Amino acid sequence: MEPTKLYSLPKLPYGYKDLEPQISEEQLRIHHEKHHQAYVTGANTILEKLDKARKEGAELDVKATLKELSFNIGGHLLHSLFWANMAPAGKGGGTQGGVLGDAITKEFGSFERFKKEFTQAAVSVEGSGWAALTFCKQTGRPIIMQIEKHNVNVYPTYAILLDLDLWEHAYYIDYKNLRPKFVEAFWNIVNWAEVTKRLESVLK
Ligand code: MN
Repeated sequence: MEPTKLYSLPKLPYGYKDLEPQISEEQLRIHHEKHHQAYVTGANTILEKLDKARKEGAELDVKATLKELSFNIGGHLLHSLFWANMAPAGKGGGTQGGVLGDAITKEFGSFERFKKEFTQAAVSVEGSGWAALTFCKQTGRPIIMQIEKHNVNVYPTYAILLDLDLWEHAYYIDYKNLRPKFVEAFWNIVNWAEVTKRLESVLK
């Protein structure tokens, strides 16, 4: 039997300076190397704790452990999606046609209306959380999801096409308390090609 695996921090698909001026090198580096890494480490620590307890037949606080595991795995997965759905300005931003543009226009009426609703979801996340565009296969609808922390209000099994980190640690160095400024900047670095790829793989 192969040894069981742990989580690892994915490399960014661009350099730390490449999202400037929307996200500074300092902001991106600390977010990736420190914050995302902390969720990877947190999830792995819990998995190792579970391994150890099972091996020794030791008692566990299962409820508390699973709650913590959900938080850390959620953090790891959402960050991994987030890095990949951004691209340096020039390669990112703008609007999108094709299968994604069609789905968005059909659901929201227009691309602008979608951006407006997503922005409102992002700006109004209570405390720390995320805004995400998901896709529901049952109805064929793209649906916005407003996640609290990394794991609350999630629609189980809906594919995430696009997500945006609204924790203060995502923007405080660059934008201080001005979350709306960060959300506005984000639209300039959305990697629509990646978002489209995710939708295509759901539709397959
Ligand atoms: Mn984050």
